[in-house]
Amino acid sequence: PAPGSLLLDVDAARKAFGGLLAVKDMSFALRAGDVVGLIGPNGAGKSTMFNLLSGVLPPSGGAIRFCGERIDGLGARRIMELGIGRSFQHVHLLAQRSVLENVALGAHRRGHAGPLAAALHLERHEEARLLHLAAEQIRRCGLAEHMYTPAGSLALGQQRIVEIARALCSDPLLLLLDEPAAGLRLQEKQALAGLIRQLKAEGMAVLLVEHDMDFVMDLTDRLVVMEFGSKLAEGLPEVVRNDAAVLAAYLGG
Ligand code: ADP
Ligand code: MG
Repeated sequence: PAPGSLLLDVDAARKAFGGLLAVKDMSFALRAGDVVGLIGPNGAGKSTMFNLLSGVLPPSGGAIRFCGERIDGLGARRIMELGIGRSFQHVHLLAQRSVLENVALGAHRRGHAGPLAAALHLERHEEARLLHLAAEQIRRCGLAEHMYTPAGSLALGQQRIVEIARALCSDPLLLLLDEPAAGLRLQEKQALAGLIRQLKAEGMAVLLVEHDMDFVMDLTDRLVVMEFGSKLAEGLPEVVRNDAAVLAAYLGG
């Protein structure tokens, strides 16, 4: 897509868990190259919103469009194939396996081969193709020197980047990151921010849930604030941060 073209359009998305509306009438949009922070107090509905966007949960109402197509109601695999990638809040890596194997396995499970090919063992050329794709994404993320390092011996910040490399194997246009900076040291946060800026420069859109306000302030073009499942505010980070209603939501929460 052209820089600045509309990628994601969320129109009155809603998710009910029994009588609880975890997401109600959420509307926002992302354009190619946008880096947007989704923030809000605990229980506001941020993770649920991510699950609706990535097809982990079906919405109870509203419309979600990606590149002009309705994606609400599609499954997680189909949504990934259409170009929405995600990383999870907790790292899921095989500690003993190399970074390369972890990323290649992730690429495989993310749908670069059917379930049948997974159950049988992969054809040699398919394995070679996956390893090539994985190596390319590891280099893109600046981890080439750790290609053959066991994932478990990397620092947490590097493990998070391995997870991002894995998500990049499906060639997403939009990347969803759930608390990518949680638990990282300053230097690791800076490396992660550098990678997100690079992806933005390549035209990717990134939506991140993050509690670390300093990390988010520096990195994002815009913040969307959720409270009780609804959008409380949206705008430039420095404006939103000083919004009275936003401050009250955090202090009151
Ligand atoms: P956040 O990520 O902003 O902390 P969540 O999206 O995890 O918030 O949760 C929003 C609300 O929905 C909370 O009240 C939470 O308890 C509830 N919730 C989340 N997932 C489920 C679920 N699978 N079943 C029932 N309630 C849920
Ligand atoms: Mg959450």
